Amino acid sequence: AILGPAPVALFAYVYSPEYIETCDSLSKVPNRASMVHSLIEAYGLLKHMSIVKPHLATIEEMAKFHTDSYLEHLHKISQDGDNDDPQSVDYGLGYDCPVVEGIFDYAAAVGGATLTAAQCLLDQKCEVAINWAGGWHHAKKDEASGFCYVNDAVLGILRLREKYERVLYVDVDLHHGDGVEDAFSFTSKVMTVSLHKFSPGFFPGTGDLSDTGLGKGRWYAVNVPLEDGIKDDRYYQIFTSVMQEVWAQFNPEAVVMQLGADTMAGDPMCSFNMTPVGVGKCLQYVLQWQLPTLLLGGGGYNLANTARCWTYLTGAVLGKSLSSEIPDHEVSQHTHIHISALSLSHGCSHTHLHIPTSTQTCSFIVSHKKSDPQNHPLVFTVC
Ligand SMILES: [Zn+2]
Repeated sequence: AILGPAPVALFAYVYSPEYIETCDSLSKVPNRASMVHSLIEAYGLLKHMSIVKPHLATIEEMAKFHTDSYLEHLHKISQDGDNDDPQSVDYGLGYDCPVVEGIFDYAAAVGGATLTAAQCLLDQKCEVAINWAGGWHHAKKDEASGFCYVNDAVLGILRLREKYERVLYVDVDLHHGDGVEDAFSFTSKVMTVSLHKFSPGFFPGTGDLSDTGLGKGRWYAVNVPLEDGIKDDRYYQIFTSVMQEVWAQFNPEAVVMQLGADTMAGDPMCSFNMTPVGVGKCLQYVLQWQLPTLLLGGGGYNLANTARCWTYLTGAVLGKSLSSEIPDHEVSQHTHIHISALSLSHGCSHTHLHIPTSTQTCSFIVSHKKSDPQNHPLVFTVC
C-alpha cells in the first residue's frame, strides 16, 4: 500500500498556561490574554484545533530583526525592572512602553509564540496558525514603541520567508502597522498592507496614502488611511477592492494577518465602528486564498470586546457560527467566565462615538500609481 501524506491538522493554536500568564502581566492589557483564551475555550473551540506549546524566542531569533544593543539593554533593565535607566529613552522605553521586571521574558514569550506558529506553517503541520497574544506591530529594530517591545509580526514574516518567496502582511488594526512596514520597506519580497485611522496627532502619525515603500520595495507598501466612524460594510468594500489588486499583482505564497481589535465599536479609542462580523468577513476573504496563514492579535483596549472579537474570528476560521450566548453545557465548566455574550458592549458614550454624517463620510484610498506599469505593480481604482 502506498502511504499518502500525513493528514494535516488544519488549525494550530499557540497556547500554554505559562504563556497566557506571561502575557496577562503586560500592564496595558491586563489579563486580556486569559480572557481571550477562556472565551475561546468556553465556546468549545479548542477541540477543533491542535494546541501547540510556544517556545521562548532566543536572543539569536530576536536578533534576526532587533539590534543586539536593544536586546542587551532590554535584558539588562528587565532584571530588576529599572524604569529610570538613562539609556532607556534612546530605546523608546519609558512612557508608552514602561519597563517592568521580566519585560525581556515577555518579549521572548511573544516573539517565540509567533515563531512557533510560523514554524507550524513551514512544517506543514497546519494551514492556519493563531497567536492572539501576538501582533505587536509598532516595535522597531532598536526601539520599543506603542506598547510593543518586540515585533513578533516581523519575526514571523522573516521565518516564513525562509521557505516562501513572497509573504503578504495585512494589518487591520486601528493604528498604522509602521514597525512592520519599516522593516520591509526596501524589499519586494514582503508586501505590507495597512488599513488604519489617519488623522493629525493620531499615533503613530505615519501611513499616508503616498507612503508606498522605498528602493526595491517601492510600491510594495500599501497604506489605506481611513477616517473615524467607518462601519463594517464600507470597510469590507474598501478591503476587498484593495486586496483583489494586491492578490493579483503580488501573488503571495503565505500571509500574516494582524487583527487588532481596537477598531471595534466600544473600544476606548472611540474611532471606528466595526463589529466582529465585519472583521470576520475580511478574514474570510483572506482565508479563501487558501494560503499558509498566520493570524495575530494586536490592539484592543475594551478587553471584553476584544475577547468577543477574537473568539468570533476563531469560530470563523473553524467554520463555526457561534451563538450569542455561551453554550450551556460549556458554561458549567467555566463559571469563571464573566463575558456572557458575544455582542459588543459599548465602552464609550455616544457623544464620543464618531458616527459619520452625510457630510463626514469615510475617506479611503483613492488611487495609487501614476502611469509606468513597470514601476507601478499596483493600480487601485477604489473610490
Ligand atoms: Zn492599535
